[in-house]
Amino acid sequence: MSERKLPRFIMCFCTGECPGFAKLELWKFINFVRNELDVEYAIVHPQLCVDDGDRFLKDYLREGETDTIYIIGGCDPRMQKKMFKDAFAEKGLDVDKQLISLDLRNMPTEEVMRKVQEAVEQALK
Ligand code: SF4
Repeated sequence: MSERKLPRFIMCFCTGECPGFAKLELWKFINFVRNELDVEYAIVHPQLCVDDGDRFLKDYLREGETDTIYIIGGCDPRMQKKMFKDAFAEKGLDVDKQLISLDLRNMPTEEVMRKVQEAVEQALK
């Protein structure tokens, strides 16, 4: 039996200016995700919901690969789904099954780490 693919994690850091992420120690956090959690890799993007973010997602999502889970940390999950669904659809991916969106605003680094750890465990089930 083949093993499930490791999830891929993107932290959308909202330009770095968003007060919602003021408490987050970004590099400590992203190094925790890439070194300690079972992810394929972890990256930081400055702003996924604008034109260059959209172009990035369309480059980044693996066409037709329906068993990869993408975990995106950022703002409200419903907003994320609205903003990213076209890029997923264009690559033949199911946004409802393959995207785990996490609202990581307004919480300290340890809590953010815990939330992402839970999402990775959920993705690997
Ligand atoms: S997707 Fe959300 S977290 Fe990312 S830049 Fe846009 S508003 Fe900010």
